[in-house]
Amino acid sequence: MATVEARDIRKSFGTVRAVDGVNLSTKEGEFLVLLGSSGCGKTTLLRMIAGLEKPTSGDVLIGGQVVNDLPPRARKIAMVFQSYALYPHMTVFKNIAFPLKAQGMRADAVRQRVEWAAALFGIELLLHRKPRQLSGGERQRVALARAVVREPAVFLLDEPLSNLDAKLRASARDELQQFQRRIGTTTIYVTHDQVEAMGLGDRIAVMQHGRVRQIGTPMEVYDEPADTFVAAFLGSPPMNLIEGKDCLVGFRPEHFLPKEAFPMTEAASVPFRVTRLEYLGADRLLYGVLERPFPEQKVIAKLPSTVTTSIRQGETHEFVVKEKDLKFFDRDTGLRTAPRPLSTQFA
Ligand code: ATP
Repeated sequence: MATVEARDIRKSFGTVRAVDGVNLSTKEGEFLVLLGSSGCGKTTLLRMIAGLEKPTSGDVLIGGQVVNDLPPRARKIAMVFQSYALYPHMTVFKNIAFPLKAQGMRADAVRQRVEWAAALFGIELLLHRKPRQLSGGERQRVALARAVVREPAVFLLDEPLSNLDAKLRASARDELQQFQRRIGTTTIYVTHDQVEAMGLGDRIAVMQHGRVRQIGTPMEVYDEPADTFVAAFLGSPPMNLIEGKDCLVGFRPEHFLPKEAFPMTEAASVPFRVTRLEYLGADRLLYGVLERPFPEQKVIAKLPSTVTTSIRQGETHEFVVKEKDLKFFDRDTGLRTAPRPLSTQFA
């Protein structure tokens, strides 16, 4: 096991600053997720940690040692990418054994290690098959087994589940997490999928334009976003952000509730005109606009469908949000600011 650290690491491709000064460090055995939309620099950052890309400046440390000049194979890392290319002409056994044979390991030791890795992922019965005789999920497991067989100090995974369908993804996520807990290898995982990030990560680094905007536990980045970017990036639908008198006021759609069903004291109350209703099975989304304090600001409310309400499209109802669920942001920088008295912004 080892920790990974990036110190003020940068990478430019011509005029494109793919990674623009990232500092982060994992804890021993941690599952760290790099989350961000396409092009934000996640893969470039991962490739620099792996040694596949040379940083323009900054240092990568693995296990406390600067590894800038070490080639990938000397870094004790294993990688699985989105296109986890198995060798099609080799059996599962040979695919998993490949990195060990390349190291010159003896045949009986190779067999032992392959069987150990196959058992970890429950693919012992597939060892004689060729990749084309496997389902997507099974291929995924073979790729992971091939990555762990050398018992790496660090795992680097780049969207490894994106080739799977939605149902398989959920079970692969579960498997991956259980496996990571069991072997306790420090893992860095790249994804643009916030559900995957929230479900898998001990911590999440939210990236934008080559920088880390915030790093924290799933709860921290969701409940206490450091800025409007993180607030709007996480959550579906994202946090409502409305203009206050001298700042932006944010609240999550699930915290914005009809007063008739949630008669809360200690809560701000505003008239909300519902312009559209969407029934999503477990939830209902209510799209609309505030009538006060600043008219015509768009807001979304999310109600569990277990809550019964008589609200219809076109009607105005009083909605409430608890004071503790209001977040305040600087209008110019987007950064989180101290809470203000509601009377000055929102009532
Ligand atoms: P995705 O989720 O789409 O893979 P990403 O967040 O992983 O995106 P990167 O692949 O790291 O993003 O790319 C970051 C930026 O650097 C992008 O603007 C991309 O076009 C650019 N880039 C990446 N690799 C190269 C390269 N080899 N040459 C030139 N530009 C590159």
